[in-house]
Amino acid sequence: MMSESYNSIEEKFGAKNYKPLDVVLNRGQGIWVWDVDGNKYMDCLSAYSAVNQGHCHPKIKQALIEQADKLTLTSRAFRNDQLAPFYKELCELTNSHKVLPMNSGVEAVETAIKCARKWGYETKGVEHNKAEIIVCENNFHGRTLAVVGFSTDDNARNNFGPFAPGFKIIPFGDAGALEEAITPNSVAFLVEPIQGEAGVIIPPAGYLKEAQKICKKHNVIFILDEIQTGLGRTGKLLAEEHEGIVPDLTLIGKALSGGFYPVSAVLSNDEVLDVLQPGQHGSTFGGNPLACAVARAALKVLVEENMIENAATMGDYFLAELKKIKNPGIKEVRGRGLMIALELFQGTEGGARAICEKLMTMGLLCKETHTDTIRFAPPLVIKKEDVDWAVERISKALPG
Ligand SMILES: *Cc1c(COP(=O)(O)O)cnc(C)c1O
Repeated sequence: MMSESYNSIEEKFGAKNYKPLDVVLNRGQGIWVWDVDGNKYMDCLSAYSAVNQGHCHPKIKQALIEQADKLTLTSRAFRNDQLAPFYKELCELTNSHKVLPMNSGVEAVETAIKCARKWGYETKGVEHNKAEIIVCENNFHGRTLAVVGFSTDDNARNNFGPFAPGFKIIPFGDAGALEEAITPNSVAFLVEPIQGEAGVIIPPAGYLKEAQKICKKHNVIFILDEIQTGLGRTGKLLAEEHEGIVPDLTLIGKALSGGFYPVSAVLSNDEVLDVLQPGQHGSTFGGNPLACAVARAALKVLVEENMIENAATMGDYFLAELKKIKNPGIKEVRGRGLMIALELFQGTEGGARAICEKLMTMGLLCKETHTDTIRFAPPLVIKKEDVDWAVERISKALPG
C-alpha cells in the first residue's frame, strides 16, 4: 500500500486527536526507523522517551517472546512469578521502599494523587474532602480528566469540564511560590524535574532541593513525575539524582518497558503507599507477568549496556554541537543529557513545525512542542558519529 493511502484511511476512520508528520513507519532498530517505502530515518523523539533503549532491543524482545510463550496475564487475583523479582529489582535499582505497578504514565499520576489524598486524611489529619495538591503552570502529567483538569494548556483542557477540585497551580521553578501556596490542607506537591512537553524547561539549580525542604517542613508529600525525565534520559537513572534528592513518590513509565508494552510504576517510601489496603486501588493489567518480564529486561539493558552514561556524554556533546550552530533564528539551545530543545525566535519562517517537516525529508524525525521549540531526544544508544550526522542536518534545515 502507498503511504498516501495510509494517510487517507487514517483521516477517514480515525479520531483526529493527533497531527502526525506524514511518515508511515514499519520497522525500527536502535536509533533508526524505516518507512513503508524503505526510507531510513534517525528517530530523535524516541516515542516521547519511551524507547530510550532503542527500537526493538533484542534482549527486551527476547524477554517478551519468552514470557508470551509462558504466561501473559493472571490479574492480581493470583500471584505471578515475575512480579516479585520485578519489585525487588526496581526497588534496589532506584532505592525505593515500595512500588505499585500500573500501565500508562497517567495511571501512575492518578495513583499518586489518590495515595496522597488518602495519606492526607488518614495520616496528616486533613479535614474530609479538603485535600489540596499543588501543581505547576505548564505542567504535563497526562490526559485523564483529573489530570487535564489542572493543566494550564487551553487546548488540553477546554470543554472537558467540569473538573475535579482540589488542585492549586503555581509558577514552575519558584520555591517561594510553593511555600506561599501551602495551607494546612495541602497534601502534596506534584512536579516534573524538567518540564518536557512545555519545551524542556529546566528549573533554576537548587529548586527541587528547596521544594523538597519546604514539603518536609510543612508535612506535604513531594511527588516527582519522572515519566519522561526518568530511566536515563537526562544522563542519570532518575533526574532527581542531579540534585541529590529522594522524593516521597517518584513516577516512572514510558521507557520502563523500552517501548514494548505500557508499563508504569509509583515508587514510594513506606509511609505513603502503605495507606492502600486490598480493594482500594488496582488495574486488571497492572503488574501482569508479561509487563514485569519486559520491564525487568528494559531496566537490565539500560544499566548493563551503559546507556545512562552514554546519555550523559552524548547529551553533552549534542548540546555543545548545537550551540556551535550560528543561525539568527535560534533563540536558545538547552538540555540535560539527551533531553534537548532548540527554541526559535517567534515568527521564524514557518516555525518549529516547518523545520520538523524539512528534517523529515532529510532523514531525521523530531517533533515540535508548541510553535517555536523543537525537541531532540534520540534513543540513549546514539553514537558520536550519529550526533554529527544529526547536527549537520539540523544546521542545514534551519532557515536563512
Ligand atoms: C508522557 C507523560 C505522562 C503520561 O504518560 P502516558 O503513558 O501518555 O499516560 C505523564 N507525565 C509526563 C511528564 C509525561 O511526559
